[in-house]
Amino acid sequence: MVKPVNYQSDGTYQNLYEESIRNPKGFWARQANLIDWHKPFDKVLDDSKPPFAAWYVGGETNLCHNAVDRHLAEQGDKPALIFVSTEVDQERVYTFKQLHEEVQIAAAMLQKMGVQKGDRVLIYMPMIPEATFAMLACARIGAIHSVVFGGFASHSLASRIEDAQPKVIVSADAGSRGGKAVPYKPLLDEAIERSSYKPASVLMVNRGLVPFEAVTGRDQDYAKLHAELANAKVPVTWLKATDSSYILYTSGTTGKPKGVQRDVGGYAVALAASMKHIFMGEKGKTFFATSDIGWVVGHSYIVYGPLIAGMATVMYEGLPIRPDAGIWWKIVQDYQVSVLFSAPTAVRVLKKQDPAYLSKYDLSSLKALFLAGEPLDETTSDWISGAIGKPIVDNYWQTETGWPILAVQRGIEAMPGKLGSPGVPVFGFNVNVLDEDTAQPCKPNEKGVVAIEGPLPPGCMQTVWGDDERFVKTYWSSFKTRQVYSTFDWGIRDEDGYFFILGRTDDVINVAGHRLGTREIEESISSHPAVAEVAVVGVADSVKGQVAVGFAILKSSNVLDAAQAKTLEAEIMKVVDGQLGAVARPARVYFVNVLPKTRSGKLLRRSIQAVCEGRDPGDMTTIDDPTALDQIKGAMTPA
Ligand code: ATP
Ligand code: MG
Repeated sequence: MVKPVNYQSDGTYQNLYEESIRNPKGFWARQANLIDWHKPFDKVLDDSKPPFAAWYVGGETNLCHNAVDRHLAEQGDKPALIFVSTEVDQERVYTFKQLHEEVQIAAAMLQKMGVQKGDRVLIYMPMIPEATFAMLACARIGAIHSVVFGGFASHSLASRIEDAQPKVIVSADAGSRGGKAVPYKPLLDEAIERSSYKPASVLMVNRGLVPFEAVTGRDQDYAKLHAELANAKVPVTWLKATDSSYILYTSGTTGKPKGVQRDVGGYAVALAASMKHIFMGEKGKTFFATSDIGWVVGHSYIVYGPLIAGMATVMYEGLPIRPDAGIWWKIVQDYQVSVLFSAPTAVRVLKKQDPAYLSKYDLSSLKALFLAGEPLDETTSDWISGAIGKPIVDNYWQTETGWPILAVQRGIEAMPGKLGSPGVPVFGFNVNVLDEDTAQPCKPNEKGVVAIEGPLPPGCMQTVWGDDERFVKTYWSSFKTRQVYSTFDWGIRDEDGYFFILGRTDDVINVAGHRLGTREIEESISSHPAVAEVAVVGVADSVKGQVAVGFAILKSSNVLDAAQAKTLEAEIMKVVDGQLGAVARPARVYFVNVLPKTRSGKLLRRSIQAVCEGRDPGDMTTIDDPTALDQIKGAMTPA
């Protein structure tokens, strides 16, 4: 077990955490009271076939019931779903009662198209209420949803259709980005064309943004069916806690996306516990996660988590800087948001804007800003906390886990944070930093692999969809000596029990035998006041094995001439020398306007590295802006 955290603690966290590790069955049996059960479970945990873990065996429940129906009596007329779109200038609030009605109608549509328990439904949608209705409708009738991020093109979509084999696909004519309609239907048609598996029906929401042709016999109109089924009553289908609720693919930062398969009961309990202990969720208040339903944050903290906690949730369609950089804060003010959840990448976008936008609105309802998804550098953290004057809470997790592994758990007690650290282990996660060869715990401040001892707590992935072997091989076979779950992230744990994430295990740079995390060098470079964002990769070098190369975006958009670039590069190298030592000094720092990222905003270091080394960048289906790689190429080969 991880060494006790070391700060002025009242012991609440300590006791809770220790109990969760020492006596997981007792601990999780108690947490199970946070949700409604149709039939109580016989067994808290079946871990007779490690590394598989079945939680709440014999129990029956339903995610939709816990997210919606359960709140009707007490909060039926209170807001449940708040839709704000700065793309199509719309704001709509659905109460729990209205959400209940909409979800039943959507469920009736799916049933009409033949969807039954266990069938898959693929949801390829922009951030509109119908997407949430569709997800909850699946949960209600026991269909397994597979939400595919709306920004993906036909190639990525086709591979996900083939993998999940959905009976029905729910989609829309178009999304909208920066005020411009982004057609979905042609991409969907092309994806179905490419896929060897064909869905029986496609349910189309027509937003009137882009005209499209319906395929006769296959495509159904949402509005038409909605009118037909306006009074539909669809009772909840009680599911085994261990049934599957959804499939969600990882972001694809480090290779081929993996289809994470999640359960029903364990997920509901884990989310309820996380809302209470980590996210300071309170019934009747408003939660706003700025993510997209296509990502795990969208699943856990736009749709299921807040609703299970009886909170209203904000679904925002739009950019963080349009109409201006004050939009999030305006939403906080208008809807009395108490918890905001975003990602460092979005905050870095704001950092390039006038900070006056952030202080323009009344943020008194806001308790904290949670950030997750990638390392939160100290400069960005300091900047945003200064700008809004609220606690900034980093938390670390993965699509695979579904909820935080590490966090500063302020819902439990007044736990101080540490700059640059996502915090301490979350209850249920027996997480440690292990030596990659011996699988033994590292000493404090010694670098190792962040790994979790099985069984994984409730809410984590059951397996890789359709591929148990890949689950075991991918996640549980990193260490030769024993079966431990690898996060594939490097980290250290300090004397006080706080973790620091140093980068991905395949992002390590080996300079003349020194192993350096990309994160450390990036953090150092971004402490230079001119730098807004930076990516560091290791590039093959005949003398040193590898050298670090940096690509930086500057805060100002002024174009540097060659001499200015040289001066700034030298300054940055000096900063790194001073902070990390000459061994970490990048061989070159180039200046670019955009960095290659996944659609979810994560740096694609592997692709940058491939381009730097003149290799093929590989599977680029999840890249946000393909021209970003051209900039990398251009920077490396000056005219
Ligand atoms: P793939 O697994 O397909 O390569 P991915 O790992 O980017 O994609 P996600 O599950 O969305 O897909 O991301 C989880 C990863 O994001 C973590 O393993 C870690 O590398 C990074 N991460 C998430 N939160 C944090 C955080 N607070 N600090 C540092 N890194 C983080
Ligand atoms: Mg990953």
